[in-house]
Amino acid sequence: MAQRNIDLLSQQAQNCRACELSNSRTTVVFGSGSESPEVVVIGEAPGEAEDLTGEPFVGRSGQLLERLIGEELKKTRAEIYITNVVKCRPPKNRDPKRDEIAACHDFLLRQLELLEPHVILSVGNFATRAVLNTKKGITEIHGTTQTSELSSAPVIPTFHPAAALRGGPRVVAMMREDLSVVRGILECAT
Ligand code: SF4
Repeated sequence: MAQRNIDLLSQQAQNCRACELSNSRTTVVFGSGSESPEVVVIGEAPGEAEDLTGEPFVGRSGQLLERLIGEELKKTRAEIYITNVVKCRPPKNRDPKRDEIAACHDFLLRQLELLEPHVILSVGNFATRAVLNTKKGITEIHGTTQTSELSSAPVIPTFHPAAALRGGPRVVAMMREDLSVVRGILECAT
């Protein structure tokens, strides 16, 4: 039933024109993965490759995220669910605007209601601030257990994999530590 409902919600998003990002997008990148995931990953917004393919977190960033989740959580991409705060690509990869986040808010809220994850992983500064409605930076709160009005599931912020690609082993190591917090929550939940 969750799959059917999430598919219906995705179809609604494909036709959405609620904000100006609909004017420049190629594809609506709604989200993908398991219909009953223990973990939902939330990023900022689709980039160019995502806009062209309709899949979230493709390319080198996505591959790194997938590898770290595989190694630290023993989960494949198909076993989790990946989405973004806004479902359409901002032109030239600019940050989503406040009104665009507000326009897309219900899609994220309803996704989380249907998916009922045990834990949410917010990746990067922007997504974390949007999900937690906070001004705190990712360096300060990564790896901590947070709460969000979007879901009853705990939220663990971590760095964006693009930052890890730029920042090298030190950032990758911090992402692994953050994922170990996720692993601990999952172990307690099962
Ligand atoms: Fe609709 Fe969200 Fe795309 Fe804006 S970003 S057009 S609210 S789906």
